[in-house]
Amino acid sequence: MSLNIDLSGTNILVTGGSRGIGAALVRGLAAAGATIAIHYNRSAATAEALAQEVGHDSFAIGADLADAEATQNLFAQTLERLGHIHVLINNAGVAFSSPLDASDQQWIQDWERTMAVNLTAAGILSRAAIQHMGPLGGGRIIHISSRAAFRGDTPDYIAYATSKAGMVALHRSIARGFGAQGIRSFLIAPGFVRTNMAQDFIDTYGEDYALQGIATERLTEPADLAPTVVLLASGLADHATGASIDINAASYVH
Ligand code: NAP
Repeated sequence: MSLNIDLSGTNILVTGGSRGIGAALVRGLAAAGATIAIHYNRSAATAEALAQEVGHDSFAIGADLADAEATQNLFAQTLERLGHIHVLINNAGVAFSSPLDASDQQWIQDWERTMAVNLTAAGILSRAAIQHMGPLGGGRIIHISSRAAFRGDTPDYIAYATSKAGMVALHRSIARGFGAQGIRSFLIAPGFVRTNMAQDFIDTYGEDYALQGIATERLTEPADLAPTVVLLASGLADHATGASIDINAASYVH
């Protein structure tokens, strides 16, 4: 068999496609021929430029995923534009350093915003995707979680780890509950990946902390995640539905 993957005719919504890991996924998926709805929150110009760069009628679309109504509208508007969404990639995320001794108000606000963007939005979009894809014979949902879901995180990032662990249960429930409708669900658990988000960690804990425990010669780059996601989006790995895939250079395997 050949692994030349052709995603032409495949419509994909990538949340947080404007930069970091999401932008690398957009580039990888588009290189395989897919049409991408490149979601952004603040990085409108970057997302627009990326849509121009990757082609295949890809376009940028904005929404603040901390807002449940805006999240619902994102799916509806993407669907209106594309007619059919074959693959949803829940990638957008935030990671706030939130020490336990922050003020009550600050700690709770960080917690709620983390859950809203990382977990509630993924739930809302997954529900909409299932309701759309199920009657049409199925589709694929790919969740970008974190190794933090499985090993926990530092005390300042408890909310982040908790939100990513919630994503694991969301993913497994989708895989088990909607398989008969042809819905396939996959989860990626990256370690440190060189993006702005990782830079915040590195600024706090130092570059050595990020490199600690990895089994490769260099830190993972966003593009290192793309080939796996292209494969999952293609349908060639559908019998791995329900799987959580570690892409963290063996820094945590479960
Ligand atoms: P990043 O460079 O900080 O990019 C975050 C993305 O999420 C951006 O596209 C951003 O959009 C979007 N986003 C942030 N807040 C949003 C909001 N309120 N509403 C809508 N979109 C919002 O992060 P990254 O490193 O690429 O992370 C991507 C995913 O991988 C995240 O889920 C993250 O948890 C996960 N991950 C990252 C690492 C790592 O080390 N980098 C490790 C494990 C897991 P705008 O720029 O348009 O605002």
